[in-house]
Amino acid sequence: MVGAVAAVIVVALMPTWTGALSGVAVGAVLTAAIFRGETRIVRRRLAVMAQPFPVAWEAILRARIPYYAALEADERTRFQHLVALFLDEKPIHGVGCAIDDTVRLLVAASAIIPVFAFPGWEYTTLRKVLIRPAAFDAEFRPESAAPGTAAAMALGMVGNSGWFDGVMILSLPDLLAGFAEGAGKHHVGIHEFAHLIDRSDGAIDGLPATLPRACLRPWTTLVHEHLAHRAGADSGLPAYGYTNEAEFFAVASEYFFQSPAELARRDPPLYALLARVFRQDLLARARLMDHGHEPPR
Ligand SMILES: [Zn+2]
Repeated sequence: MVGAVAAVIVVALMPTWTGALSGVAVGAVLTAAIFRGETRIVRRRLAVMAQPFPVAWEAILRARIPYYAALEADERTRFQHLVALFLDEKPIHGVGCAIDDTVRLLVAASAIIPVFAFPGWEYTTLRKVLIRPAAFDAEFRPESAAPGTAAAMALGMVGNSGWFDGVMILSLPDLLAGFAEGAGKHHVGIHEFAHLIDRSDGAIDGLPATLPRACLRPWTTLVHEHLAHRAGADSGLPAYGYTNEAEFFAVASEYFFQSPAELARRDPPLYALLARVFRQDLLARARLMDHGHEPPR
């Protein structure tokens, strides 16, 4: 039944596709909606992707996001489609601060980078993103956080109940810092979207749905060894990652995307498992960027 519905929709939309979009890009981002029979969403997504990507946005992506700049030309086109769709479907508002296109693009990039190898990925539990002018104060402090700890001054959060359900909140200066030169291993945007990837199987437990079944035991063994022997760990993982399994995954994800070469050198097993989780070998891109090589346009 689902297959029949999808086939009808695909045939109906064929005239719209031709000449406007690459088959790969279309198929990747529409598959999920097609198989849910959501023709309205499919048509809207096609319309969004058919729009030319703003030149000013492309310049911002290229200047601010090394990951994007290192992509091949066809990958950049797919990245642009995903950015346009994310911004069309996920409202992003400043709360107590004004935000511009750069901020919106950095939020979208934070969402897309960790799932770029999962073409049909949908952040189904995310309703909107709120940007605050500073790290969170007591108003948003987790009850379990001790004063003065990283958790007590959270840089971002994803709500999972009540009004906050599906609401991501990010600190503006910390979002910007994650994309700044010399940002090191920290990236609040990647961190919070890693929590959403973790949550996609129903629970934020440090076991993301993207973890291959064959990696389940190696992953849980590695995480528990890290958490049990924190003092002796030499992986360079920032301390907040040792809070619990969920924070380990989120902080390790930041590390993986921000400093892949260092992670691979200091903790090869963790790098290898994260490369399986995200289906990305960032070392190749890191070398490209390290050598200052301009990727082909
Ligand atoms: Zn966290």
